[in-house]
Parts: sequence; structure tokens; C-alpha cells
Amino acid sequence: MPKESSFKLTYATMFNPPEELHINFEAALQKIKSNLGQEYPLLINGKERFTAEKNYEHSPINTDWHLATFQKGTAQDAADAIAAAKAAFPAWSHTPWEERVALLRKVADILDERVYEVAAAMVLEVGKNRSEALGEVAEAIALIRYACSQMEANGGYVRDMGSDPLPGFISTNQSVLRPYGVWLVISPFNFPAALTAGPTGSALVTGNTVVIKPSSDTCWTVSLLVDCLRQAGLPDGVVNLATGPGSTLGNALVESPDVSGITFTGSYDVGMNLYYNHTNLKYVRPTILELGGKNPTIISRHADVEDAALGTVRSAFGLQGQKCSAASRVYIEEPLYDKVVQRMVELTEKFAVGDPTERQVYLGPVINKKAYADYQTYVTDLAAAGTILTGGKQLKGGIYDKGYFCAPTIVADVPRNHPLWKKEMFLPITMVERVKDLDEAMQLANDTIYGLTAGFYGDPSEIDWFYDHIQAGVVYANRPQGSTTGAWPGFQPFGGWKGSGSSGKNAGGLYYLPLYLHEQIRNTVRRA
Ligand code: NAD
Repeated sequence: MPKESSFKLTYATMFNPPEELHINFEAALQKIKSNLGQEYPLLINGKERFTAEKNYEHSPINTDWHLATFQKGTAQDAADAIAAAKAAFPAWSHTPWEERVALLRKVADILDERVYEVAAAMVLEVGKNRSEALGEVAEAIALIRYACSQMEANGGYVRDMGSDPLPGFISTNQSVLRPYGVWLVISPFNFPAALTAGPTGSALVTGNTVVIKPSSDTCWTVSLLVDCLRQAGLPDGVVNLATGPGSTLGNALVESPDVSGITFTGSYDVGMNLYYNHTNLKYVRPTILELGGKNPTIISRHADVEDAALGTVRSAFGLQGQKCSAASRVYIEEPLYDKVVQRMVELTEKFAVGDPTERQVYLGPVINKKAYADYQTYVTDLAAAGTILTGGKQLKGGIYDKGYFCAPTIVADVPRNHPLWKKEMFLPITMVERVKDLDEAMQLANDTIYGLTAGFYGDPSEIDWFYDHIQAGVVYANRPQGSTTGAWPGFQPFGGWKGSGSSGKNAGGLYYLPLYLHEQIRNTVRRA
């Protein structure tokens, strides 16, 4: 972030950024827009590689904009990337951890210097608004720095243990956490910088070598991130970039016996399949899954109506509802239901939907043609089952005809057995429901396979009850900045319970780095 300001951009502070942020962003956007259409290579063993087949990425804002061209890597490219990472592992894992920390800190500094450029590319590629994009690059930097600081705080994870009481001998013990080997990082489209940089930084600083596979919709942001890793001077093969289809290149990466561990962030279905494939070898390898959500917000009769309505719509519609932490179900106690819902509708109708490169726009387009079509299917289904209170249509006319724009949608009166109460739609659609009391709200809130985030608005005396009963990895109370979204490394480490995550430990938190390390106990004996 800009050195001249004491302002720190996070997802909680992003609503009123200082003017300089806008000026810097606009300058970077102009520069990047005048230079669209470049081609980006794979990175294998420090060398650029171009493949026969290409992936031409267009912007979801305006599908006439050809953003950049990427390689459609094959199974052979996957094998080569893994071989490079495997060859680089012995030297990298034996590099003193302090040197690895210094290199990763350099990566974070380079990304910090390029924050506006990467954020501008991300706005064009993902369609997120500028504050969200700048916030995400800042999050990526924070995740790398947090991993470095955890390595330091834990002395490289080397600890002396007790000495055995062996008469006539001195028997010392040491616990050393050591890296596994080649680590595969598969990231989703919605947070391409943070959810590639976080796992990659953690894997690298702990001494693993990495192969990165981004979503085919967001190769640009990830290629720029990989550029920062190269610029920092990481040795060849320590980090490799393999872009290409999940079904071919992705499967070849996952099924390789030379991959020692995986961090996959993406949907429940793809993640669970990957888990079965990856663990179907001769022994179990660590598989960190960060999966979807169906995040509830519970609003008590004692809630502040304004905070509850504002926090809920911000979380429902930020990034067009395409956050794993989006507020997609809202349970409101009967006495406050009408007031909260009315205010949610008013606030939602004030959101500007349009080209997210423009300053005032809160919602940009959804990611691609499939998401756009899914939106229509869901709203048609929900209109038949319940009442659309606002939204409910794809937007048409003017710039809307060039991209994938959808109106933010609030739906009521949907029967509780409707499948969309349980399915992650990942679109700007949220469902509201009247409940007779908080126990009923809690029972409904917990009744899904997911357990990622959850929000609560009510009297302070009710908050501990909420925390104790809700089944979710990140929970918020009385937060107008967002009921279920906006976690930040070191403040709100991020991860899910149940079908939302596999490790039970949150990224950007105290217990995350050891997931990338296995323990070796060293017992040395000598005669007294
Ligand atoms: P996705 O599951 O479609 O794809 C995720 C990644 O997996 C992409 O890189 C994709 O190319 C790759 N992939 C697909 N098939 C593969 C295969 N067979 N082998 C290997 N890789 C394969 O998800 P998405 O649409 O990109 O992202 C949205 C999903 O991610 C949502 O479900 C969202 O909730 C989830 N998500 C979770 C978190 C979290 O921290 N829990 C964060 C962000 C997003």
C-alpha cells in the first residue's frame, strides 16, 4: 500500500479509502488497458514455455476485450513442472529457513510495489470492484508476510524436547518440523491473488517447492503474481506455473505420485473428487481443502436494524455474491423481519451495478457465461417457488449487453425444503426467512453440509450463545462492515468446518504453517 499514507487497506476499511488510492489505481488501469492482449507463458524450471493450444481470456465486463493469451498446458507439461519442483526440493529444503523468509519477504515487497498494476488486471479479469481488488492484493501480501512472521516466531519449528532419564547416558531429543516435497497449489477464480499467494508463500517458506495451477478464468492475475516470485530471485524450479484445463493438466497434477501435498481452494464437488483421487495411492498425503460455503446470518429481535441490514447486503452482494463467505441465507426473528428486509431491499437497490473499473460501482459482472446462465436458471426457479423482493433479472441495455451483469436479488417465502436453501449458488442471490425464535434460526443455520462463516446481529448478551452453537470456522457478531465476509490474515484467520474445509485450521492463523510440515523427532544418545 502507498508509503505516503498511514491508511491500511483491509476488507473492513475499504469502504472509504483516501483519494490517493483512486488516483494511483486509475493511472495503473490506464496503463494496463493500453497494453492488452499480451501472451503469458508457463514457467517450468525457471524457463518460459509456450504450448500449441492457447486460452484467450476475455473480460466478463466486456467480452470484446481480449485481456491476454495463456498456454493450455498438457499432461506432459504437468509432469515436467512436477519433475522441476522435485529436482529443486533438496537444495531449497536445506536452504536455511531465515534465507527463505528473506526471499519471501522480498516477494511481498515486490507485490506491494506492483499492487495497483495487479489490482487493475484483476478488476478487468474477475470483474471485482477496485476496493475489493486492491484489498485482495493487500491480503495476498499480508498472507505471505504472516507466514514469514510465523516461521520466525516459531524459530523455524525446531524445538528441544525433554531429555530421557537414562542413567549413564545423556539422551537429548529435538522436534524438527520438515517440509514434505513438491506442493501443488490449485486456486479458484474469485480470489486468484490471495488464494494462490497464501498457500504458495506458506509452502515455500516452510521449504516445499511448488507447482501452481490457477483457474482458467484467472490466469492473468496469477501470472503477474508468479512474475513477482521470479523477480525476487527464487531459484529455478522452486516455483512453477502450469496453466491449463482442470480435466487434463489438473488431473495429471493431482494424480502424480511425485506430488507430496496439495492445497486446493475451490468448490465442494471438485475438491471432494480430488481428495479421493489424490489419496488413492500407496499412502495418505496431506490434502488441504478449502471448499464452498452456504453462510447464514442470524438476526435477533434485539439487533440494530441498520447495522444488520447493511452488513448483510454487503456480504450477500460483494463480488457479486461470488465469495465462499457470501451471506446466502438470512434468518430473522419475527418481530424485526419486516423492518430488516425492507431496509435490505432499499440498500440493495442503491448499489451501483456496472463496469467495476468505475469508482462508484459496487457490483461488476459475474465471472463467465456459465455463471450468467446459472443466475437465470436460479432466479426463474426461485420466482416460481417464492417471492423475488428485488432483482431477479439479468441486466440488459447499454454496457450491460457487452458483459455478464445480473441484478442483486433478495428472495423470500421459499419453502424450507427447497434445494436452493442448501446449494451454493455463488451468485448475487440471497434468501431471507422469518423465524419464530433464535433456536429455530440456529437449527436452520446449521442444517447444511457447509460450515465456513456465519454472522449474528443482536444484544451483546446473546453473542456467546451464538458462538457456542454455530457450526462455522469464522464467525462475526454485530459487524456493519459485513455479516459473513471480510476476514483478514492475523485478525480473522480463514477456514471452514464440515464440508467447507479439511484441516480444521485456518489460513493466516497460528496453526496453519505446520500443515505444510511433517515432524521428525531426533533422539541422540551419548555416554555420560
Ligand atoms: P472450481 O472448483 O470450479 O475450481 C477450482 C480450481 O480447481 C480451478 O483452478 C480449476 O481449474 C481447478 N480444477 C477443476 N477441475 C479440476 C481437476 N479435475 N483437477 C484439478 N484441478 C481442477 O471453483 P471455482 O469456481 O474456481 O471457485 C469457486 C469455488 O471456490 C466456490 O465453491 C467457493 O466457495 C470456493 N472457494 C472457497 C474458499 C475457501 O477458502 N474455503 C475461497 C474461495 C473460493
